[in-house]
Amino acid sequence: MSGVLINIGYLVASVLFILGLKGLTHPRTAVRGNLLGATGMFVAVILTLANQRIVSFEMILLGIVIGGAIGAVLAIKIQMTEMPELVALFNGFGGIASVLVAGAALFESAQGTDVPIIQLTIAIAASGLIGAVTFWGSLVAFGKLKGLVNENAFLFSGQQVINAGLALVTLSFAVWVVVDPTSYVAYWGLVGTASILGVLLVMPIGGADMPVVVALLNSYSGLAAAANGFVLSNNVLIITGSLVGASGLILTQIMCKAMNRSLTNVLFGVLAPVGGGPSADDVYAGKVKSASPEEVALLFDAARRVVIVPGYGMAVSQAQHPVASLAALLESRGVTVEYAIHPVAGRMPGHMNVLLAEADVPYEALKEMDEINETFDQVDVALVIGANDVVNPVARTDPSSPIAGMPIIDVDKAKTVVVIKRSLSPGFAGIPNPLFALDNSLMMFGDGKKMVLDMVAALKES
Ligand code: NDP
Repeated sequence: MSGVLINIGYLVASVLFILGLKGLTHPRTAVRGNLLGATGMFVAVILTLANQRIVSFEMILLGIVIGGAIGAVLAIKIQMTEMPELVALFNGFGGIASVLVAGAALFESAQGTDVPIIQLTIAIAASGLIGAVTFWGSLVAFGKLKGLVNENAFLFSGQQVINAGLALVTLSFAVWVVVDPTSYVAYWGLVGTASILGVLLVMPIGGADMPVVVALLNSYSGLAAAANGFVLSNNVLIITGSLVGASGLILTQIMCKAMNRSLTNVLFGVLAPVGGGPSADDVYAGKVKSASPEEVALLFDAARRVVIVPGYGMAVSQAQHPVASLAALLESRGVTVEYAIHPVAGRMPGHMNVLLAEADVPYEALKEMDEINETFDQVDVALVIGANDVVNPVARTDPSSPIAGMPIIDVDKAKTVVVIKRSLSPGFAGIPNPLFALDNSLMMFGDGKKMVLDMVAALKES
């Protein structure tokens, strides 16, 4: 196929990617956005196969079968709650692919007689460097999220000096690759030091900052792919990589804002040690009141406005469908029901929106934190389902807490707060939550889904 036609096709694919991303910014258009993006990818793959096929179709098919099988197994086996780990792993795969493709390009150019042009060697060095940092950083992030590596920040004295020194050595290798592209020692030295750098950069990050790092690594994997696009002279890869790089960075910023942290603070700041604040006994002893589903159903009978605040526990217990049924039942009795969505509730951005959309909750009922916070003094019942850190008032009151300054949903200002969770165990940040001990709080101990179903049954009987 002619180069012009290929490039026009790549342009069409790129436009589809951009329209797809735009569609993904709103729940109403998200499905269409996903389809547009997938169509763009289909077009890009077909054109690339028609254009730059240097390996046989059999090899390509083998790759598709092996990759597709691994993807299918992961899609079936991975639980919704394990998505951040999976995303971390996917970012890592992107990184290692860039390292290998750049290495192969270097090998290929070394076989030829022409000296490779400097743009190519710079792109190879960039792919190797960013790809290796992304791969190893992502593996550490995966290990931390999965609990295979200690999830707390790993710190030692002189860490930043060592990292800076290592970064300098890595850059020196990168320069060596550029000036002497025939030296494999330079390329694999670059990959080796960048790999150690990737591990050392992510090890000091822990706890609630991990998701931000996963989003940042996602951005890195995009940059590595864009550099690969220059290596392969593939325009659509340059554009897609840049889109991933930019959107990953925007997501990182959104998450930092939701947690009230700067990116520098996440990457180099030290979180307060987990467990450093008051103990759970100090916070809860003798102050926690529990209620049964029947008692809460009575509360709903007298309520006019109810706000549901979902969190990670709603995802774990898969309570979204019963939650939607509860809301529908309350609305049929004249109660106004809204949902307060915290940007980092759950374990990935948009986690709650996805689950509630799956249960056909109308988008209009989902309220953003800033919008609904101003109105909590007019809320009769705030029903917290498996959320903890995102409703912890300590974020407002204790500057030494690991979640200090993180904007939270002000459920404590409602007339009554009902919290569904299985125990008084802490959330992701590992700290007690004084909300559970407030005078206007009632705890409903049990699995999220079961408790909501019990409430629906109790309401129907009342
Ligand atoms: P939290 O992790 O703070 O709390 C979740 C609560 O759910 C736990 O306290 C747990 O209590 C309860 N729970 C667990 N299983 C069940 C169940 N089956 N039924 C009922 N309750 C259950 O969640 P939040 O959503 O409030 O906050 C999110 C946290 O995760 C924040 O710290 C955020 O920074 C972090 N984070 C966010 C990401 C994002 O992008 N959204 C990604 C990764 C982390 P119990 O064990 O007693 O039941």
